[in-house]
Amino acid sequence: MFKRVLLKLSGEFLADETTGFGISPDATMRLAQELKKAVDGSGVELAIVIGGGNFWRGARNGAGMDSATADYIGMLGTVMNAMALQDALERAGCPTRVQTAIQMSAVAEPYIRRRAMRHLEKGRVVVLGGGNGIPFFSTDTTATLRAMELGAEVVLMAKNKVDGVYDDDPRKNPDARRIDQISHMDVVARGLQVMDATALTLCVEKGLKIVVFDIFEPGNLERLLRGERVGTLITSSPD
Ligand code: UDP
Repeated sequence: MFKRVLLKLSGEFLADETTGFGISPDATMRLAQELKKAVDGSGVELAIVIGGGNFWRGARNGAGMDSATADYIGMLGTVMNAMALQDALERAGCPTRVQTAIQMSAVAEPYIRRRAMRHLEKGRVVVLGGGNGIPFFSTDTTATLRAMELGAEVVLMAKNKVDGVYDDDPRKNPDARRIDQISHMDVVARGLQVMDATALTLCVEKGLKIVVFDIFEPGNLERLLRGERVGTLITSSPD
């Protein structure tokens, strides 16, 4: 059982299913309801880092631009997502606070670690927008950094229709097998795709647990927060 967890959501989870772009209020509400169901009565404190890939990824969309500027645009996209997720969570009946790494006091609180921890203690879901507030990073790194500084025991890497880490690409190899548990070192050595390399390095160095799981399988997050084994667990020890 976990006491405090950090959930990483990709921006695409809020997007319109057909275009993969922008914010779909319906998709966002479905996700918020799943989050509410999971967190209610679980006693687990939940912080969320939301990505921005449904709007903009600096490296992909900003080709030819100044790369820092392109990354700042990406970070602003994550703030839009944070606001949309807060709106849906609160309509679903889940008390929420948004904090942003880039100050935007008209729309949200600035990210203040101890304040975020206080919100979590009070049972509020804390949604963190704006990434790390600095370019050349991804929100995967934000997830691992915030998990560490907020004292979360695990970073939950939510995936869409991917139920864990496989020993080979399951779309190409029908014999690929899902791994239930694996060490950080083995993930690195075998080049398995879990999160970006910088984020993974941080987890390895600090021994932060990671769970990779399918958030679109109904009830999965709920089971996870209640202590069931779901998806793939990555820890510093092999077993
Ligand atoms: N970004 C950044 N610094 C950060 C976090 C994000 O520069 O600390 C930018 C980067 O351009 C990234 C974009 O914001 O491509 C959107 O974040 P990400 O790609 O991680 O979103 P996701 O794929 O998780 O939806």
